[in-house]
Parts: sequence; structure tokens; C-alpha cells
Amino acid sequence: MDLSIICTYRCISKCRMCNIWQNPSNPKDELSLETLAKLPKGLGHVNIQGGEPTLRADLMEIIDTVYPKARVTEISSNGLLPDRLVPIIKKYPRVKVRVSLEGDEKTNNRIRGESDGFKTKVEGLKKLKAAGGKDLGFAIVVQDENASQLASVYEAAKSIGADFSASALHNGWQFHKADNCLRDQATAAREIEKTITAFIRSNSIKSWFRAYMILGLRKQIMGHDPSEKCTAGTGFAFIDPWANVFACNVRADLLMGNLRKQSWEDILSSSAVRRCRTQVVQCEKKCWKVVNARVAMRSALIPRFPKFGTIRWVVTNKIRAAIGLDVLFDH
Ligand code: SF4
Repeated sequence: MDLSIICTYRCISKCRMCNIWQNPSNPKDELSLETLAKLPKGLGHVNIQGGEPTLRADLMEIIDTVYPKARVTEISSNGLLPDRLVPIIKKYPRVKVRVSLEGDEKTNNRIRGESDGFKTKVEGLKKLKAAGGKDLGFAIVVQDENASQLASVYEAAKSIGADFSASALHNGWQFHKADNCLRDQATAAREIEKTITAFIRSNSIKSWFRAYMILGLRKQIMGHDPSEKCTAGTGFAFIDPWANVFACNVRADLLMGNLRKQSWEDILSSSAVRRCRTQVVQCEKKCWKVVNARVAMRSALIPRFPKFGTIRWVVTNKIRAAIGLDVLFDH
């Protein structure tokens, strides 16, 4: 199972699309190392996020606890305190770091309420690269103000040897926001198509599969049904700073248990999990998030590899690009 561990709701960005920074958690109530030690070995992709995870004074110890249990360990950060990540990357160069960047200097700093965010993030990622980081990148939340900058953020990431990922603006109870919405879907979809084409034409195998991932983002923006079923509560789950385990971060009613009060095994065998899984199958929201897409694209037999349908789409479109045809966006 993949996990998103929200280790704190404290944050020093003031993003327009998220009010977590106005609703911080109290450090003394936040997930303890003892609670995290209850997680089993053999987890898939574990994302340590917030709020802002670098505000946890024990972030190194959190990584020490989680890293041996996970196939991939990721830290999602606003990138404003890169020096706190440097020792972690020196110790664990394979820890994946994704830094939120919402466009060019003006756009990023305006959307995220960060006075010098853009420069700090770009310089910070360079520092992490110099520290030996093997999997670093920027992450953008596509919205009206930055949709036309998708391709330039991808190029900025490429120019410093960093990766790039994208997700769509959405609401969730954890953001304390219900009015996020994309007004100009057509422009956003066109920009995503340009990025998918750039990914497919690149020489990076990772980017070819990233193209398939953001194909789902285009579908969500256009209001189409996702190609893959949601696997919340089965393929992935969220743990909040109070150790509550939720199937997803969109519906607050999908509470599966509490890791402080229960063992992981007791949570997974509970009637609450069975109820949540039934509700996920019946869920009518058309979510596309990196966490859904990652699980849905993966082979059930060999989780390190994509499934056949994904490979077929990538190979077909690589061939089409090589002979000068357009990428097929409807899948
Ligand atoms: S589709 Fe439903 S269950 Fe799945 S992530 Fe979205 S809201 Fe949660």
C-alpha cells in the first residue's frame, strides 16, 4: 500500500488554494515516532508531507523510521527551508524530494504568498543536487493563473536536471477550502497536451510514463471519466497529524481508524475499512491525483513496473511521435 503521511499542518507558505497555514496543528499532538514505528515493512510509495514537513524538528528521525519500510520514500516540501533537507539527502540520496513551484517568479510568489519563494526553491534544489540527491523535482498545481506556464516550469526543471510533476487544483477538507475551481478548462487542457507531447518526444523513459500520468490530469480537467478505477483505502491511504487513517484526502467520511490507538493490522481488518472500500467503489467523484494515478498505472504482478495498457499507450505514442503524428490524448 502507498501512504501519504501528513506529519504536520504547520506551514510557512500562504497559498491561495490552501488554508492549512491558518489552521496549524500543535507540535505536541503531531504524529510521534512511536506511532510511525507501528507501520509495517513492505510499504510501497510513502510520501512525507504537510503542511510543511521541514518544520518538524525530528524530520530526519521520521525518515529513519519510514525509509526501511518503504519501496520509495518521498518528501513533499514548499522548498523554503532547503538547508533542513540537505543532511537527509546526504544520508539518503535516494529519498525523492518534490518542491512546490507554481510558475515563474512573479506567479509562484503571488499564488503561494512567498516573498522570495521562487529563488529559494531553485537554489535549494541545486543544493540538494550538490548534496547527492538522485530524485529531485518540482511539482505544480495547475490553475488558471499558471496553466500557460506548465511547459516553462518543465523546461526550468530540465535545465537544472530536475524532474517535474503536475496535479490539478482541487478541494479537500484538509485544505479548509471548498471554492477552488478552474475556470478556463480549455486553456489548461491545451497546455497539458503540449507538456504530454514534450514528455513523449523526450529521451527519458520516466518522462514517457509521466506523459501517461498527466493524461489523466487532462481528463479530470475536461470532466471526463478517469481511465483507471480509484484505489483509495486499498492501494493508498492518508494519515493525518493526529494519526487518523483516511482512505483519501478528499472525503472526510472515509475514516478507517487511528494508528495511535490501534495496530496497523487491526485497522486493515476492521469493519470501518470494509465500509470505506465499499464507499470508494460507489464514489462518484472523478479524482485524478498523483497518488491515484501511481497505483492505478502499476502492474498488479510486479509493482515496480507499469501495467500492459500503460506500456501500450506509451509505445504507440512514441512510434507516432517518431513518424511525425500527433499524440493520442483520448485513452
Ligand atoms: S474518487 Fe472518491 S474515494 Fe477516490 S480519491 Fe476521489 S473522493 Fe476519494
